Amino acid sequence: MATGTRSAENFAKSVGFCCGLVIAWESRFSPQDIIEMATIITFFLAGLAVGTLVEYLLHRFLLHSRLRHRIIRRHKMHHKTHVRHSIVSEFLGFFPGVVPFLWVGFAHNTSAGVAFVVGELVYVLAVAVAHKWSHEAPHRLFWMNPVVHDLHHDGRSRWNYGVVTSFWDRVFGTYTTSRKSTN
Ligand SMILES: [Zn+2]
Ligand SMILES: [Zn+2]
Repeated sequence: MATGTRSAENFAKSVGFCCGLVIAWESRFSPQDIIEMATIITFFLAGLAVGTLVEYLLHRFLLHSRLRHRIIRRHKMHHKTHVRHSIVSEFLGFFPGVVPFLWVGFAHNTSAGVAFVVGELVYVLAVAVAHKWSHEAPHRLFWMNPVVHDLHHDGRSRWNYGVVTSFWDRVFGTYTTSRKSTN
């Protein structure tokens, strides 16, 4: 058989297989099921996104404030000594920050609420791991410049508040990769 004919046959089989999958998918899930899945995915991603903003705002305006609180003292001590905490300790340290927002998805429905909470929990775990890696192995955070957290610890700590992403630092003008601007 000519190579061209075989390729055409394989292509036709692939298209048939894909069509079969689509038909199977559509017969298995109703439009309501698909809307429900889209809602769950959207609220999960929203949980992650809200987590990044909450982390930025709390870090910038609470942890670096002049208020007297055990958590703020712990953060100042971390800045002075670069003391490293376990992932469990980091998780428990960041978790209270997202608690006031855990209701958000439930305003829509129960599955959206659960998806949002899971998104927040995954995000807090990501912060805990990312902060540990920022000190021990910053190159593992391949989507970020490896110097950003180190520069956050420099001088008066007015830069690079984001631990998982530098997105909000760029939005609010607190992003730098230069040691000159930190002093
Ligand atoms: Zn800090
Ligand atoms: Zn740190």
